[in-house]
Amino acid sequence: MRAGLPLREDLVGQEPYGAPQLDARVVLNVNENPHSPSEALRRAFAEAIHEATGRLNRYPDREALGLREDLAGYLGHGLRSENIWVANGSNEVMTQLLTAFGGPGRNVLTFTPTYSMYPEYARNTCTRYVTEARHPDHTVDAPLVLEGIERHRPSVVIITTPNNPTGTSVPPAVIDEVCRQTEAVVVVDEAYQEFSTQPSSVSLLDHHVNLVVARTMSKAFAMAGGRVGYLAAGTEIVDACRIVRLPYHLSLQTQVLARVALAHRDELLAGVAELGRQAREFQVWLGQRGYEVVPSDANFVLFGRFRDRHAVWQGLLDQGVLIRETGPDGFLRASAGTAEEMAALRDALVSLHPEGPQS
Ligand SMILES: *Cc1c(COP(=O)(O)O)cnc(C)c1O
Repeated sequence: MRAGLPLREDLVGQEPYGAPQLDARVVLNVNENPHSPSEALRRAFAEAIHEATGRLNRYPDREALGLREDLAGYLGHGLRSENIWVANGSNEVMTQLLTAFGGPGRNVLTFTPTYSMYPEYARNTCTRYVTEARHPDHTVDAPLVLEGIERHRPSVVIITTPNNPTGTSVPPAVIDEVCRQTEAVVVVDEAYQEFSTQPSSVSLLDHHVNLVVARTMSKAFAMAGGRVGYLAAGTEIVDACRIVRLPYHLSLQTQVLARVALAHRDELLAGVAELGRQAREFQVWLGQRGYEVVPSDANFVLFGRFRDRHAVWQGLLDQGVLIRETGPDGFLRASAGTAEEMAALRDALVSLHPEGPQS
């Protein structure tokens, strides 16, 4: 950056952040669904796009009403389109929420270790990022959350379940209790909910005007490339997002692809159970090999403990297996992939550590 440009002071010296996008044989680093769409589904996407491009000279529906209605139908629980908001990935949904409910002089509270993008949304919206540590087993209960709220007086609280990178779930009873005891907006980030054994907090929306459930089509839905995130909440929260959104923020093609994906959800979600099984089997295998494993309720696993995790990450990459260097010191995170990909990951670990993690 050339000296002298009037860059915001809090951005000086900052680097663009994100997982390395490297060309590896086995890619298990960003919790994507490893299955690409079938030939028949690709044709359905292409036909819908072809049909829609007849309207490409016009702005898209800025309320995305058709898509929001489809998403409401997917979530069920009597939700309607006015309870849904949708944007370019849940990262944009989160940014809109912080734009509306955070901002200068306000705090957003999260429970660490957690998703590495939250501090960025906070910084971009000039919201102060404050954290409380999870319990040593990475769980979160109502007293922990409420003490954090008491201490930091946040206007927004983010509770991630299952949590990234630990895979730990938070029961809806905890969310219910927290929403009852605070006036802050409570955002439950359910990016991995389809993989979880815990019920969704969507069932609590009727009871709390301050509750937001954030979801994404990037993970279970195998649509990371489509950039579709959404939330379910009361209409006041949806309307606040509608105020701060950019005009026509969600492109015609994004709306079209998401609606086709939702119409084919049985096919797209068919791999979810199998990915959960791969994640569980990998946890068992890691435990048997003497690794420390954080029990995961999602499609990824946090494991260690390594004296030099970067060396292990690099050693795996040298064998063509890309995982993620994230989470507590000494730990690495791997996404669940196909059976073949998981075998490649296990083989690469065995060749690095023939006698277990410390070898
Ligand atoms: C992957 C992920 C998301 C999804 O982000 P998108 O912008 O929708 O791709 C949201 N929250 C968490 C915790 C995640 O891990």
